[in-house]
Amino acid sequence: MQIGILALQGAVREHARHIELCGHTSKLIKRVEDLEGIEGLVLPGGESTTMRRLMDLYGFTEVLRKSDLPMYGTCAGLILLAENIVGYEEGHLKKMNITVERNSFGRQVDSFEADLEVTGIEEHVNAVFIRAPHIVSVGDNVEVLSEVEGKMVAVRQDKYLGISFHPELTDDIKIMKYFIEEMVVQS
Ligand code: GLN
Repeated sequence: MQIGILALQGAVREHARHIELCGHTSKLIKRVEDLEGIEGLVLPGGESTTMRRLMDLYGFTEVLRKSDLPMYGTCAGLILLAENIVGYEEGHLKKMNITVERNSFGRQVDSFEADLEVTGIEEHVNAVFIRAPHIVSVGDNVEVLSEVEGKMVAVRQDKYLGISFHPELTDDIKIMKYFIEEMVVQS
């Protein structure tokens, strides 16, 4: 499988490493034309407002809103996938029937790691939270996969997977493996 990573800003190379460790090929997506040939797309962590500005500039926003590629967003990438964002008039890509709130776990200095149970994945997942968002509410067609401190932090809707944290900053490739094997291969 060839899996793309939106490479406008943020933790791009870390995801490329995880894709390769899963035995698949990664492709950095910098232009809309680069989407050709990929079978799934990763939206990395970083700063969602900056990514939105660059997505508009390079013509990604409309193309990705219409795309039916399987997508996996981490942290800022989760914010890009949400239909609604608390305090904003409109979501960015609006692929998932969820409302998210930004920066729900404090500031950069409040970053923390947790061993999480994630539905569908055997063994705990090593999760790093950095100025992470959380999911405030979900529609009927959204499955909640994990919670921390009573807050939803991992959700799936059909071929879209959104998580608040950063597995790509650890050696834990289980979520990437889940995305590729359970979502990209099956779709
Ligand atoms: N706080 C960032 C945002 O709102 C997300 C942080 C991250 O991706 N680590 O976009």
